[in-house]
Amino acid sequence: MKTIGQYILLFLLLLTCRQTVQGQQLSSEQGELKGISSINQTTAKAIVGFLASDELEGREAGWKGGKIAGNYIASLLAQMGIKPVFEDYFQPFEAYRVERQKKGRLEIHPDSIEKFKQGVHQKYEMRNILAQIEGENPDEIVIVGAHYDHIGYDPMLENDQIYNGADDNASGVSAVLQIARAFKESGIRPKRTVIFAFWDGEEKGLLGSRYFTQTFVSINKVKGYLNFDMIGRNHDETNPQQVVFFYTAGKPAFEKWLKESIRNYALKLKPDYRAWENPVGGSDNTSFARLNIPIMWFHTDGHPDYHMPGDETDKINWEKLTHITEASFLCLWKMANESF
Ligand SMILES: [Zn+2]
Repeated sequence: MKTIGQYILLFLLLLTCRQTVQGQQLSSEQGELKGISSINQTTAKAIVGFLASDELEGREAGWKGGKIAGNYIASLLAQMGIKPVFEDYFQPFEAYRVERQKKGRLEIHPDSIEKFKQGVHQKYEMRNILAQIEGENPDEIVIVGAHYDHIGYDPMLENDQIYNGADDNASGVSAVLQIARAFKESGIRPKRTVIFAFWDGEEKGLLGSRYFTQTFVSINKVKGYLNFDMIGRNHDETNPQQVVFFYTAGKPAFEKWLKESIRNYALKLKPDYRAWENPVGGSDNTSFARLNIPIMWFHTDGHPDYHMPGDETDKINWEKLTHITEASFLCLWKMANESF
């Protein structure tokens, strides 16, 4: 026999359960909204401003400025509470080549390294940075990445000696960091595991992404890769909303997702859609496309400061960078949760 008080308690308990179930039903859309609301221009300015400051000396892979950039990215990931893929955020690797007068390419393959070690050689120590949010099904993985290295400085240049690389590719790093935070802020566990990657040594031959794709034991679980390289400038000042969107031609869903994202959130972007049969070339998408992993790549195209000391923070189009970050968050959200 129950008392009236017990019936009231039971009723309240049932009511709470029902609200929780309703909360879960609504949560994917609410999560997407919470995630996208966390992306903003202030964060983009803070990240690009630091990475492209003169004190980081152009972030050349293996050099002091590049190492400080890596430490900064890892500390932001730790602050967000996003877990590393390995024991810590760093995936160290070595690249070797002959001494500098012979101008040979840097190589990361163990067989090449053995050969270099027999003569006079250069050795670079580089680090990828990798963090992840585990999905409901960790047997499927999607990755979003950008290279954080650039081309350093030249003390023999007169006047500006530092290749700041604000667009190339501090802009892309800011997008990956904001997207990582957006996934965390959403409060939703994605269906697939999402890895947030920051590649080293891209400017020296896509070394970091190549090392990762050649050594990652779960590479066969990777279902898609979204790349950023240079997403902060105007190629044509009369068309400041332009962005080039490369994607694997066999995946028309990628173009559909971007169109829907721009429409649903009224983003000020005019993409140049470029379906690409075999998207090998240009940037770190190459390392994934070689393994037939579908890719998307956002890129705002060339400009006169490309690989010049004038690639500075004050020339970034912040509104465009932020809208590309929002659009790509939405595309990655779909890549992590939907079938394609
Ligand atoms: Zn680049």
